[in-house]
Amino acid sequence: MQQNAHKLNAFPVFLKLEGAVVVIVGGGEEALAKARLLGQSSARIRIVTEDASPELQAWIGQNGADHINAAYAPEHVRGAAMVFAASGDAALDRRVSADARRHGILVNAVDRPDLCDFFTPALVNRAPVAVAIGTEGAGPVLAQMIRARIDQMLAPSLGSLASLAASLREAAERLLPKGSRRRFWNDFFAGAPARAAAAGDMRLALESASELLLSQRPAEGHVALVGAGPGAEDLLTLRAQRLLMEADVIVHDALVPEAVVAMGRRDAERLPVGKRKGCHSRSQGEINALLVSLARAGKRVVRLKSGDPLVFGRAGEEMAALRDAGISHEVVPGITAAFAAAADFGLPLTLRGVTSSMVFTTGHDLKGGTLPDWAKLAISGATVAVYMGRSVAAEVAGRLIEAGLSPDTAVAVVENASLPGRRRFHGTLADLPSLEARSDLAGPVMTIIGDAVAGADLARSEPLAVRERKTPAPVAEGAMT
Ligand code: SAH
Repeated sequence: MQQNAHKLNAFPVFLKLEGAVVVIVGGGEEALAKARLLGQSSARIRIVTEDASPELQAWIGQNGADHINAAYAPEHVRGAAMVFAASGDAALDRRVSADARRHGILVNAVDRPDLCDFFTPALVNRAPVAVAIGTEGAGPVLAQMIRARIDQMLAPSLGSLASLAASLREAAERLLPKGSRRRFWNDFFAGAPARAAAAGDMRLALESASELLLSQRPAEGHVALVGAGPGAEDLLTLRAQRLLMEADVIVHDALVPEAVVAMGRRDAERLPVGKRKGCHSRSQGEINALLVSLARAGKRVVRLKSGDPLVFGRAGEEMAALRDAGISHEVVPGITAAFAAAADFGLPLTLRGVTSSMVFTTGHDLKGGTLPDWAKLAISGATVAVYMGRSVAAEVAGRLIEAGLSPDTAVAVVENASLPGRRRFHGTLADLPSLEARSDLAGPVMTIIGDAVAGADLARSEPLAVRERKTPAPVAEGAMT
């Protein structure tokens, strides 16, 4: 039973039943339940029974169903689009099912899954909108609970609003350029027309929809520089998620995991622009030009960057290009790698009485004059977070020690912070150079240096370097320290 746990054995579809005949065989409660369910469709309902309960008779009268007041015979199912065997008589239900199947008609037999070609869902009906809930028999109670929750979520006016939308679809297609239709429908379903419909005023809904339709300007592009966080999908902000859902194009760096990129709108275009160390697939200038040209074409662009877009993300250059081109843009902050790394270590970045400032730096500016400045800060007790520091670890350590920082200063290193496969290391500034030689660290690496590191939870981390001993200890043994 469990082997197909993640595949649907019954797949939901919406069957066209307008004007089709649906046959229900049976006269009791089960038949009435099916009649009520199918009565929500525009199918013609034919009920075959000699002993209809008074309730069923009343329902037939009120709903104008056909009633064949005779013992069931095979010809009763002929020409039907669907048959329900709901007689409560197992032998009869089996016959009905067999007859239907012989004619290739879809059949459902109450409480007999083996005789069923399909199951009926729990239904939230806001015609023309329908939500069908199926559990493949896992439990009607579960289906009803879900049904109740969805029912609460959907405004009673949704059906009228959807009908209005259907009646405007052609006009929208005629009047609006392709790029601006989505925005119109967003505003339609979430803006003034939806509010008017919710208040029960469909005339006002139509008026405001028409106004909205006529006021649409040609699509204006927009670029959001969005922080994707350190890698875990659930460290994305709600705003980032919303923008991803609205984006026409997602331009992303190599460091942003596939799972995060996948959170965007299904039909959004996805453009990887590389920028992993050593394999720049597009130059920064090309990326700037790409963003400008996408926005000029009226696209809503999400420029997805790992961590926070304003921390070592070259966002400054992209924003300048957008500003120069007069393109509307915004920045959505994200959780930067240093914060994720600190969280993975339980490492306080500021520590009362120990350190009250922090430095975000990179090992890559060593040739510029930047290092002396932050080295000075490190000496005066700041916590230092080093981005892109793996291949220059020795140089960073050397320069800090040279500037006067004790070789015993605590260091924490995290590879793949926030991700399930993260690895944590701890050691001292003197151990830091060993990072360069570690070819086993293929993921992004964050290094945090400073006295505050001593306040971290080091229990689950490995030593950064195995110090010289008489018999070198294997790394795993060190994990016990
Ligand atoms: N804007 C990003 C930084 C981009 S620079 C941010 O705010 O985090 C790329 C560097 O970030 C990497 O070399 C590495 O030092 C760091 N980094 C990014 N993601 C990381 C992760 N999950 N774990 C550890 N370091 C990470």
